[in-house]
Amino acid sequence: MWSFVSPVPLYWRRRGFLLRMEKGECEECSFTFVPYKSICPRCGSTKVKARKLPRRGRIVSFTLVESPPRGFEYYTPYILAVIELEDGTRVFGQVSDAENLKIGDEVEATLRIVRVFGESGQIFYGFKFVPLSSSHYPVERMPSGTSNYQDDKS
Ligand SMILES: [Zn+2]
Repeated sequence: MWSFVSPVPLYWRRRGFLLRMEKGECEECSFTFVPYKSICPRCGSTKVKARKLPRRGRIVSFTLVESPPRGFEYYTPYILAVIELEDGTRVFGQVSDAENLKIGDEVEATLRIVRVFGESGQIFYGFKFVPLSSSHYPVERMPSGTSNYQDDKS
């Protein structure tokens, strides 16, 4: 039997990436990285801006998970994929509502429930990718106007 540890602090720290798809961009060395952190992993600068990642991309690789880690049994089977976004950033994420998924398929990030903790009933939202060809597309949209990033045009 395992004891329940609340994932809320970790989730809260990663909310910029999980809910708003933000990347970090260093003003000192121009390095960009995912997920956003307040310190540049390359040069250590704290002059890091949060930037919005594009929501659309293409499937680079994917796998069907049938033997999940503990805590994810309820969601099995599910698809995990590497997605190359329109700006070239590669992210790892779950794909839902996919029928006959293929490498190269176009997908878009949508806000979904990513996990429910049975003992506490905590519900965690985040983005999952849905193929543009899916009959379920678009079901839900990402929230807009709720982020702390600054657009390039200012
Ligand atoms: Zn840097």
